[in-house]
Amino acid sequence: MAEEKEKIIEAAVCPFCACLCDDIVISVDVRGNEIKEIRNACRIGVQKFRSTRNEGRIRKPRVDGKETNYETAIQKAVEILRTAKNPLIYGLCNSDYHAQHVALEIAKHTGGVYDITESICHNLLYSELMNGRYPFYYALLDEIRDNANVIIYWGANPIVSHPRHLSRYSVYPIGRYALKGVMDRELITIDLVDSELKKISRWFLRLKPGEDAKIAELMTRLVNGDTSGLAVDNEIDLDTVVKLTDRLKKAFYGVIFLGLGVLSSEDAPENIAAIFALVDALNKSGTRYVLFPMKGHFNVMGAVMLLLRETGYPFGLDFSRDRVFEPGKTTVLDVLDDVDAAVIVGADPYSSFPAEEAKKLGNMPVIVIDPFETPTTLISSVLFPTAITGVEAEGIAYRMDGLPLKLDKILESAYLSDNEILEGIYRRLVLL
Ligand code: SF4
Repeated sequence: MAEEKEKIIEAAVCPFCACLCDDIVISVDVRGNEIKEIRNACRIGVQKFRSTRNEGRIRKPRVDGKETNYETAIQKAVEILRTAKNPLIYGLCNSDYHAQHVALEIAKHTGGVYDITESICHNLLYSELMNGRYPFYYALLDEIRDNANVIIYWGANPIVSHPRHLSRYSVYPIGRYALKGVMDRELITIDLVDSELKKISRWFLRLKPGEDAKIAELMTRLVNGDTSGLAVDNEIDLDTVVKLTDRLKKAFYGVIFLGLGVLSSEDAPENIAAIFALVDALNKSGTRYVLFPMKGHFNVMGAVMLLLRETGYPFGLDFSRDRVFEPGKTTVLDVLDDVDAAVIVGADPYSSFPAEEAKKLGNMPVIVIDPFETPTTLISSVLFPTAITGVEAEGIAYRMDGLPLKLDKILESAYLSDNEILEGIYRRLVLL
């Protein structure tokens, strides 16, 4: 039989952001083990598929800075985890579901802390959900695409962070009740900065820092018809807010996509609560509205869903305590003084944590599992290079609305996947 020269993958899933676009067409030169052509992906998706030969790739496992093989590195990692009293296992939103599961088992077995990058980005949203002041009006992306005719991005700029979000799920696609696609929809952007969305938005409301909650509260009052003593400071463009609220009320179906501009802002708790109240008021006034948090990393939803299924909590668990979940005590930034080793999987806390917190990682042995060199790999005692999930290793990931999708192995690779590395560590920890 003739050797296959070219392979076409018709519906590959892009493993960069949580849109998980599943219509990517890839042609592979099988003999050269190389991607020849990529269709349908956005520019950052293309970069991800083409990142296998990046200069920043980690070439070999390292122990204390010296190159070694996987087996020796796994033995060293097991040694570190056996002697640690309270290890931290952190990151995991760029890993497949099975790798997340094994990492969770390691945390349980070692009585350590398990946390994911979600706890830094979206923790205040969960606090609001858990205190249950307002219902959480939510829908899957397919329902939003079919129905929504008023689309609001609040503190989000998908053109930069999720470039195909508008064309696949919100503004441009044809939906059951938006048969003319973009012609049947209105885009509204509310943000602190003039983002790229301004040019294509029907309404663009630019806020000053700290104004999100004020504007949401004002809109809620207008939706409720409560205009008594409606005095706002001169800085707010009341006329625009009144017209905008009127538009919101007249929607057939509306969605507010919430971005990190709201979820991670200084006044996030007030802002989130005020936007929840606005969505509640709109629904009670008879207009269907849903709230949809924009998730970043490609499998952040897998990480959250695994934890909810296995423990009932969304992030930040300390298995050394009686109360394993206690925000403010068990999430990653609360435990850095107490943990005595760390396993970092597909994350770069040395860059993303506040500097004072990041420095604490330098006081303990750190095991890093990542395809690429980062500032965190520089402080690692044990370093594992991995295959890139969704390009060099298959797996399961959950789209930002919780739909599970299979990621393909497109190219052959000499690297182990993060799942295989974590399984190697776990098996030795438990069995040997
Ligand atoms: S929008 Fe996200 S998932 Fe879709 S192609 Fe771009 S990077 Fe990939």
